[in-house]
Amino acid sequence: MSARVIFLGAPGAGKGTQARALAAEWGVPQVATGDMLREAVAAKTPLGLEAKRHMDSGGLVPDDVVIGLVEERLARPDGAAGFVLDGFPRTTAQAQALDAMLKRRGQSIDRVVFLEVGREELLRRLTGRRVCPKCGAAFHLVSAPPRTAGRCDNCGAELTQRSDDTREAVATRLDVYEKQTAPLLAYYRDRGLLATVPGEGAMPRVAADIRRAVGRAVPA
Ligand code: ADP
Ligand code: ZN
Repeated sequence: MSARVIFLGAPGAGKGTQARALAAEWGVPQVATGDMLREAVAAKTPLGLEAKRHMDSGGLVPDDVVIGLVEERLARPDGAAGFVLDGFPRTTAQAQALDAMLKRRGQSIDRVVFLEVGREELLRRLTGRRVCPKCGAAFHLVSAPPRTAGRCDNCGAELTQRSDDTREAVATRLDVYEKQTAPLLAYYRDRGLLATVPGEGAMPRVAADIRRAVGRAVPA
């Protein structure tokens, strides 16, 4: 059974956490453009250096750069049985490019999960977020603190705040989302692929709703 799923939602909606869990459960790669770009930034590759300027201000990295990254990633053999896309597509041009690249491979998207979260809650989540630079786990100062303050529960690394989780960059990211990414809801609704999942409930609740939306059994 193929499992090609896209997670759509505003910054802070919880795409990363939920996409990672679903991909691990299915044994397919989580393709997260934000993570891939942050890796390029950390490695100081030319692509990373260009991307950093856009990311720190809260703006989008140019379409051609991101599309190239995804195309390369999806061509790898581990994506044959499916993938979970997280943070891509983010613009109509990216959605069209994705359709074209899948079509060339005789593939298509099975489901688009929209995680719906209100602006107030998004702001609260993003400004309190702390992440593990080593394994990618996410925590929240108030609602999901790590067992030991400042340390990752999974691997013990020191938690950091993303450079684009500052108030200013967060406001820009939410505006960019409304203008550039929200139109994709209609794009996928028109194609009969969109499933809206309320993203403000408790995490296991949200996870169960997602399993239902993608038409697979809720794990025991
Ligand atoms: P969030 O969804 O919380 O904003 P991400 O980790 O998905 O976090 O993305 C962080 C940043 O990386 C974005 O603000 C943007 O600058 C860049 N980025 C990620 N994915 C894309 C994309 N598909 N197109 C353009 N820029 C992207
Ligand atoms: Zn960690």
